[in-house]
Amino acid sequence: MPDSDCPVIVWFRDDLRLADHPALCEASATGRKILCVYILDEKSKGIRPLGGAARWWLHGALAALRRQLKAKGGALLTFEGEAPEIFDQLVRQTKADSVFCHHRYQKPEREQDDIIAARLKERHVTLFRAHGTLLRAPDAVMTKSGTPFRVFGAYWKAACALGDVPAPRRVPSHLSFYDPAPLTSLPQLDEAKLLPTKPDWAEGLRQNWEPGAEEGEELLQDFVAHALHRYDRGRNEMAADGSSRLSPYLRFGHVSPRQVWAAASKVPGADTGVFLSEIGWREFAWYTLYHQPELTSRNLKSRFDVLEWRRSTADLQAWQQGRTGIPIVDAGMRQLWQTGWMHNRARMIIGSFLVKHLLLDWKQGEAWFWDTLVDADPANNAMNWQWVAGTGIEATPFFRIFNPLLQAEKFDPHGDYVRRWVPELARLSDKAICAPWNETEETLRQAKVKLGGNYPKPIIDLQQGRERALAAFRKTKSSE
Ligand code: FAD
Repeated sequence: MPDSDCPVIVWFRDDLRLADHPALCEASATGRKILCVYILDEKSKGIRPLGGAARWWLHGALAALRRQLKAKGGALLTFEGEAPEIFDQLVRQTKADSVFCHHRYQKPEREQDDIIAARLKERHVTLFRAHGTLLRAPDAVMTKSGTPFRVFGAYWKAACALGDVPAPRRVPSHLSFYDPAPLTSLPQLDEAKLLPTKPDWAEGLRQNWEPGAEEGEELLQDFVAHALHRYDRGRNEMAADGSSRLSPYLRFGHVSPRQVWAAASKVPGADTGVFLSEIGWREFAWYTLYHQPELTSRNLKSRFDVLEWRRSTADLQAWQQGRTGIPIVDAGMRQLWQTGWMHNRARMIIGSFLVKHLLLDWKQGEAWFWDTLVDADPANNAMNWQWVAGTGIEATPFFRIFNPLLQAEKFDPHGDYVRRWVPELARLSDKAICAPWNETEETLRQAKVKLGGNYPKPIIDLQQGRERALAAFRKTKSSE
């Protein structure tokens, strides 16, 4: 018989919210006192440490969750170290007999959860895992022959055919919390260390983002009320805030996909369908990562393993710093550096430029995004980089090379996105701002632009870059 004075543990991971939290609901249904914990585990084998921008976000996210819990009379304990060791100590000290959490879908995390479950079982403690971070569990959507889908359209059709998405669950009406005071002997997470110092590069992040479930919910409601009805068009206008900007809130689980689904589904119309299918792409990315864990580290199309990527630190740095001399590319990269986020269209343009025009390995782009995005997400990031590179399943064909000038003309027709992020070009006309190198000395002088001076000359001739990429691609064909 469980000792009713002993707590149950809720282990928060990428689900830093109280609403629609099945694990918290199950824990509260026991009627026992709840101990809420978060563990930053960057030591266990295979678990990838968070990037800098995500660490900054996590700092605010933990503070926000702590505030939410405090308002309900609870607290959040945060630890740092190997999760299996920490649980050994936690259950020994608290005599907890169960731990509630959500499934994680990445291979190293799944394996770690299995290890923890086995170790806890030896102590007669149960690890309950609920599905709480996706609309559908990855093994719930399979082809008729029982294999995973490899094409988004078929996957999404089958996922939607499973029936209505269950409604999000409310915050449990009764929550009572365990007093965590005596647990200070465990390795505490020094949360201040998540923030950058020397230099403190996070000013732009602070200006643009407020982590937390309440902020995520507000953003969701605002998007549904004001932008969802024109999402299909608005999401591609680079200078406008036409998309939801929910990505970091989904990444850290401040809002759940079910909450997003429920809020958006109330708005009738085709734009809602387009938006929900983007939530579907998030599902598909996690689905793919679950079934093909090598997504993050290897080309899913092995034919590309022979592709001879260039190595150029100078080109990589120019790209990272937004100093390639191609305005639309530099605008995207500077938006990323300053705000920790980038418009989806810009992500596709700068991704294609890195992988095709510069012929640098997509993994270098993935790693830079991992470090600089507040929404850096193992599945979405890797799947999209493989999509851009043409190396993934259902990826854009390698020979489809985005022309950054045409993209700028189409999706930033007045140059407003470039003007905002590359202010040294702001005085150029709408046409000239796409490709300043085509302008006369006099036009540039009047706009106070000096190529090779206050703005770089292009680091590559776009046509030559395109041909080089196509030639490298053709060579992979001959190796088939
Ligand atoms: P909205 O358009 O409002 O979409 C709503 C939500 O749907 C997003 O928040 C996101 O969770 C999901 N979503 C939208 N587009 C995609 C997509 N193409 N693939 C998967 N899910 C999607 N997204 C991340 O969340 N994390 C990443 O690390 C990430 N890396 C990317 C890397 C590259 C090279 C590219 C091309 C795209 C990447 N994306 C990533 C996908 C997409 O760019 C962002 O999800 C989107 O721009 C976030 O803005 P939003 O919340 O306003 O999106």
